Amino acid sequence: MPVPSEYPMQYELNGVRVNIHERVRMQLHDFRQIDLDSFEGFGVLVGSKSTTAKEYWIDKITTPMPDDSATRYTFLMKDAGHQQLIDRCFEESQGEEVYLGTWHTHPQQVPVASQDDKLDFFRCIARNMNRNLFFIVVGTEQTKIYMKKGSRIKLMEMTGDIRAT
Ligand SMILES: [Zn+2]
Repeated sequence: MPVPSEYPMQYELNGVRVNIHERVRMQLHDFRQIDLDSFEGFGVLVGSKSTTAKEYWIDKITTPMPDDSATRYTFLMKDAGHQQLIDRCFEESQGEEVYLGTWHTHPQQVPVASQDDKLDFFRCIARNMNRNLFFIVVGTEQTKIYMKKGSRIKLMEMTGDIRAT
């Protein structure tokens, strides 16, 4: 079982809770678009879920790789390394660790997912109907997490101790 104190960021929606590992929190923190010429950071989320599928733990993320591309306001994840990490985690954990969504940065203090972001979230969800997925958007002062509720993409509520990353 994951150790609770190692997951300082917790978000809830609709009875589903996601816990973000401290190591992941620090990685996301480092990618904040604080410099005016910084590009978007992005990657996939990997972690485990409880048997009830009500509790999730995000333990690993990927970060931009050589075959990806990005601008200040866009990114395109196309390096095979993202899927390779997902496959490797799945094998090494005997299927415990799976793909749980994506993250990317915005050059906004309080980030808001765009319409294009939400369309992309729906495409990811359509490929993984057997689990909840999470979408982290990292702003310069706050981090937001979205998930699907009913037919819509909704913001999750922060319940952990850390109010901003
Ligand atoms: Zn975005």
